Amino acid sequence: MPIHEKSLIRPENLNVQEDIEIEGVDVSGHWSTFIESRVISDYNEALEEEIAALPGGEFIHRCWQCGSCTNSCTVNAINEDFNPRYWIYLIRTGMESELLRDKDIIWQCVSCNKCTYACPRDVFPEGVMKATAHWLELKGHTPKSHSTIFDEIFTEQVIETGKIEDGYTIKRFFKLTGQALFQPWLVDMVKGMLRNLPVGMLSRMGLASIIRPKTSGWSGARDAIKEYVEEQEVHHRQALGLDDLVQMAESELKAGAAK
Ligand code: SF4
Ligand code: SF4
Repeated sequence: MPIHEKSLIRPENLNVQEDIEIEGVDVSGHWSTFIESRVISDYNEALEEEIAALPGGEFIHRCWQCGSCTNSCTVNAINEDFNPRYWIYLIRTGMESELLRDKDIIWQCVSCNKCTYACPRDVFPEGVMKATAHWLELKGHTPKSHSTIFDEIFTEQVIETGKIEDGYTIKRFFKLTGQALFQPWLVDMVKGMLRNLPVGMLSRMGLASIIRPKTSGWSGARDAIKEYVEEQEVHHRQALGLDDLVQMAESELKAGAAK
């Protein structure tokens, strides 16, 4: 599948000639805009499998590149560089280095799911965007996003207590993302709640964020969920070859220490 969107031709790959004549014919202007040929040798042949192994990426193989996802995309409407169809193309062809050039905008998917409804092949492009953002983090190409940090706090609470305490979640999220707890919008929200909610309920919320009550009889469910989450994490790491990398690094360290 060739690149057929003009916006995808990188400026550095263009050779613009303002004044050129070939065999007596003036071919200046846009006819003289040549795309420089490139040789790509660093394919990641496992890239599609790696994305497909992560939640949301399972159906990437169904894509037939119709472009309906990009055409309907909320973010693409304001930034044409945000292009789910193109990224799926890069993933399926293993062009990791090309994909990495857009690593700082892939996370911007707002999960509106317009693409999901537009896709004729049930690829679930929104899921593919999430899987790709997750892949970028796991591979260390991008730092952990705020949404990943939030997910981790949420999961940790469910596993530990079987409950979600809003106050605790917000407090911990701000702490782990380096944000001040007393933000103007939060103070306004609490003031609004104080006006409209019973004080007793607010007190219980505040107390719950400190003592973190547990669901009774939760330990059995906790162990099962914990085991499943750990299994999934191992599965994802193995699919991305991360355990191999860790083992290689450890072997190199040991070899270095033995010298
Ligand atoms: S879910 Fe993400 S990729 Fe899909 S249309 Fe919305 S912003 Fe675009
Ligand atoms: S709408 Fe579906 S089939 Fe079409 S390019 Fe997007 S993901 Fe692929």
